[in-house]
Amino acid sequence: MLEELTLVYRCPDCGGELTLHVDEMLRTDIEATPPLYSEVMNGTLSCALCSRIYPIENTVPLFLPSAVLERRHVGTWPYNG
Ligand SMILES: [Zn+2]
Repeated sequence: MLEELTLVYRCPDCGGELTLHVDEMLRTDIEATPPLYSEVMNGTLSCALCSRIYPIENTVPLFLPSAVLERRHVGTWPYNG
């Protein structure tokens, strides 16, 4: 996920602004044509209003219902019932 998208995305639950926490950046080549920008590889987006936390995994922000996010940590990711 591009860092700049933190300013664009809003909490899907309440519309609140999101705060980015970066655990790992994926550095890409800004000398390339067209230039490639740094992406957030792993981290979290947290909502300032409702305090929900959305993980970013392998550059993908996971805007999923909290029930799904909780289940996937016990091995039922995400649509296996
Ligand atoms: Zn929220």
